[in-house]
Amino acid sequence: MNIITGRYIAIPSILKVEAGALKQIGNYLKEADFSNVVILFGNGLIDMFGSVVMESLLHAGITVLEYQEMDTVNVEEITNLAFSMPSKTQAVIGIGGGKVIDAAKYCGFLLKVPFISVPTSASSDGFSSASASLIVNGRRKSLPAKMAYGIIVDTQVISSAPVKFLYSGIGDMVSKITALHDWQFEEDHGAAIVNDFAMMVAKKAVNSFVRTPYDSIQDTLFLKELLDSLAMSGIANEIAGSSAPTSGSEHLISHALDQMLEQPQLHGIQVGIATYLMSVVQNHRSVRINTVLTKTGFWDYVETLNLDVNDYLEAVEMAPSIKPFRYTYLHEKEYRQKAKEVLTGDPELRKIFHIPSS
Ligand SMILES: [Zn+2]
Repeated sequence: MNIITGRYIAIPSILKVEAGALKQIGNYLKEADFSNVVILFGNGLIDMFGSVVMESLLHAGITVLEYQEMDTVNVEEITNLAFSMPSKTQAVIGIGGGKVIDAAKYCGFLLKVPFISVPTSASSDGFSSASASLIVNGRRKSLPAKMAYGIIVDTQVISSAPVKFLYSGIGDMVSKITALHDWQFEEDHGAAIVNDFAMMVAKKAVNSFVRTPYDSIQDTLFLKELLDSLAMSGIANEIAGSSAPTSGSEHLISHALDQMLEQPQLHGIQVGIATYLMSVVQNHRSVRINTVLTKTGFWDYVETLNLDVNDYLEAVEMAPSIKPFRYTYLHEKEYRQKAKEVLTGDPELRKIFHIPSS
């Protein structure tokens, strides 16, 4: 118990990030004393992982009360589903991408039963966050939920997912660098109080990630480092009691793009681009960020997307209104101006936006 705030900090009791983890899911849940579970799979994933998961659970003597595929993040549909789950349900397992993870997370929260997070791609830190991004009255909203009781990640599965999801995870991970700098900026302007422990945890997470040597981003070591670091930064939020350690001005740009565009890119793709932009604006570790985004192939992928710099210019202007109660670099006009100059002037960004050299 945190004495000052009286707030309980939740940390996952199960954390398995390894090759072949999916085959072991039954054993991990049995060790934690679960015997009746409900599983939500992402779209098309019963075909891919259904038999491995079911066999593993059966073998461990765990009863699957219900299972289904799910492709909605509509809060009403999820609420109805949660309250129709059998009363014997001891845990809700979410297997798949961000959507089904958030849906299962919210079901567990509503039913006050543990949620087991089994991401099949590394596209963001949502698998270890305490909030769920759901559609409420037609609009995407971040709702408070609960940290996963268990996080089980099969690095073999992650490495076989389309590579764009990995780039997205990389973008979301490097964003902790600019997010933490924004948080400090916020404190320096009297608009927040940094939780030192949360900052230390998030810093360690991202630094460990950016310093990991690798030959290919599909290397088990690299994937484990990425997933562990994403999980660890989720805990930083939990400690801080807010998303400030992992989400700063770069996330505001991505949220603005999500609102503006009919077809936004993956969360971590937008965030990664905005992270590099903001690191130049903040004059903080932009060389390191550029190195990671270059070496992993992130920039090469982004170059194929034919992004429009005007969308990003508009998103920079819109960013402070997304979270008016925060005080990031983009909440100051001077830095919005600088961001717009960097967007059209920085050689790396000109390349990805296909702006010809004048
Ligand atoms: Zn993010």
